[in-house]
Amino acid sequence: MGAFPERLGRALQQRRQQGLYRDRLTLDSPQGPIVRMGGRDYLNFCSNDYLGLAAHPRVVERLRSAAREYGVGSGASHLVCGHSAPHHQLEEALADFTGRPRALLFSSGYMANTGILTTLLQRGDHVFEDRLNHASLLDGGLHSGARFHRFPHNDLTALEAKLRAADGPRLVVVDGVFSMDGDSAPLAALAAMCSARDAWLMVDDAHGFGVLGERGVGSTEMAGLVADDVPVLMATLGKALGTAGAFVAGSELLIEGLIQQSRNYIYTTAIPPAVAAAGLEALSLVQEEPWRRQHLAALITRFRDGARQLDLPLLDSSSAIQPLLLGDAKRAVSLSLMLRERGLLISAIRPPTVPVGTSRLRITLSAAHSEAQVDQLLGQLADCWQEA
Ligand code: PMP
Repeated sequence: MGAFPERLGRALQQRRQQGLYRDRLTLDSPQGPIVRMGGRDYLNFCSNDYLGLAAHPRVVERLRSAAREYGVGSGASHLVCGHSAPHHQLEEALADFTGRPRALLFSSGYMANTGILTTLLQRGDHVFEDRLNHASLLDGGLHSGARFHRFPHNDLTALEAKLRAADGPRLVVVDGVFSMDGDSAPLAALAAMCSARDAWLMVDDAHGFGVLGERGVGSTEMAGLVADDVPVLMATLGKALGTAGAFVAGSELLIEGLIQQSRNYIYTTAIPPAVAAAGLEALSLVQEEPWRRQHLAALITRFRDGARQLDLPLLDSSSAIQPLLLGDAKRAVSLSLMLRERGLLISAIRPPTVPVGTSRLRITLSAAHSEAQVDQLLGQLADCWQEA
């Protein structure tokens, strides 16, 4: 058969047997509380479109008008001739919004995280990562050449001991809101610890940006931190902002260093200018319409109160990510499919995305949902939960 086909075939078969095989869904509609698939409408509770901006008419119109003005393709990497006015304006707006001297766009969050970490870190440095950090942070840290230290989730005592024992440049890296658990990193305490130990703190706020804090700046705003507390702030634009790409915000030195040295920045085509323009429009909506954050917060409370009454094993999360723990991968898939038959879309998250034995339904809420839709979700969970 040949080594590669044999190996690939074996891996697929193993995944099927363990309930870990993943199938893609094909949507025939925009993102929103209701999506269409195979001729049927589904109530969607698994998108990261937390503010309901992915198909917002203003964001769509800005993309259309920018496409008329700038075309579709960016044509080149940023350092050749792919950096256009909408990219530049979005970077300036993001720097201003996050209170940092500068911001830099990357094509995706995965590219940003691996690019930042492999540029900042060198052999002889130390990187400390929460065990539940996003895969892109773990991959970046592992590939950076630095000594890689993982600490137990949100365990400051363990981190402090590791920091104390390490010599040389030290970077602590966490998710602001953990993507599969929905809980937050203790950012104020982490910032204080990093400052006391002369380490840098990097926060990936993919799931907090746009959603948390009075102004929607995210986890760092909610923790009352300023730019110096978090020298490296990264967030994605494909979640609350409803578009695509990612950015890092920080000092002049950090951003220039990344522009000059980050391979993930230098050797890739810039995102389409129209997508950057759409990102600018979404950022305006984040600032103009705080009701989206307030409505989302009210839905989160409503869902948690209802789930508590039903005795559902939710994780301890106050974010838009509300995981329902099932443990066994096959059981998580079976509940997900049962709900799908009833018109609800919620994906099962299984290893290796989460640790073995902690498979779950990752329920996500959005400002685009209504209270009635959240009640419908609770009603269906009440009906299906015992059967799964
Ligand atoms: N960081 C976190 C915490 C994420 O959840 C994700 C996306 N799931 C990323 C980074 C990667 O972002 P992108 O999808 O833009 O590559």
